[in-house]
Amino acid sequence: MIYERFCGGIFETNCYLFKAPEGYILFDAPEGACEWLHSLDVALKLLLLTHGHIDHVQDVARIKRQFGCQIGCHPLTAPMISDREFFRNFGFELEIQPTEPDFLIEETRGRNFLGADFQVLDVPGHCPGSLCFFSHKNKLLIGGDVLFARSIGRGDLPGGDIDLLITGIRKKLFPLGDDVTVLPGHGPPTAIGTERKSNPFLV
Ligand SMILES: [Zn+2]
Ligand SMILES: [Zn+2]
Repeated sequence: MIYERFCGGIFETNCYLFKAPEGYILFDAPEGACEWLHSLDVALKLLLLTHGHIDHVQDVARIKRQFGCQIGCHPLTAPMISDREFFRNFGFELEIQPTEPDFLIEETRGRNFLGADFQVLDVPGHCPGSLCFFSHKNKLLIGGDVLFARSIGRGDLPGGDIDLLITGIRKKLFPLGDDVTVLPGHGPPTAIGTERKSNPFLV
C-alpha cells in the first residue's frame, strides 16, 4: 500500500497520506488529521489541498505549525485558508485558524512533489479552484470532491455549477483510463471505469 486514508470531522472527510520518494505528502486536512499523523509517527513534509472547503482544511494551520511542512494549493484556495472569516461570509458558523500557503498550484501536465510526478487537473463546478492530482505511475487519482463512488460533488455551494462539474469529469477524468483508482474526498475508493459505466449522474 502506497497510501493511507484517514476520515475525520462531521462531514466524514477523507485525507490521504502518500509516501513519495523524498518524504510524506498529505492530501487535505480534515479535523483530526493532525492527531492521526502523530499516531503514525511520520515526519510530514508537504500538505497539498484539493480545494478549500472547510471540512478539507480544518487542520491545516495546526499541521503546518506542528510539522513545519510546506503547504501547496490553488490560488483560489489561498483565501479560504488565510481568511478566518471566509466561511462566515457565506453564512456558515465556522471559523478556521488562518495560515498561508507556501506555494500555489495550477493545472499542469506534470509537476514533481517530493520526487513523485503528478498531473494536476483543474475540474471546476464543485468549488472554485478544485484540483485533482493524478499519479500516472500508480494509476491513482486523488480527486477531492469531484467524483465519488456512485455520486459526484455538490454543485449548489457558492461558486458551484453542476453542469460544469459533469462536463469536467467527462472531459478530464474519464480519459485518464478505466483502470485508474479514484481516492475521493468522501466515501470509499472507486475506479474511473466503474463510474463511467454505472454512476447515475454520468451515464
Ligand atoms: Zn467540497
Ligand atoms: Zn468535502
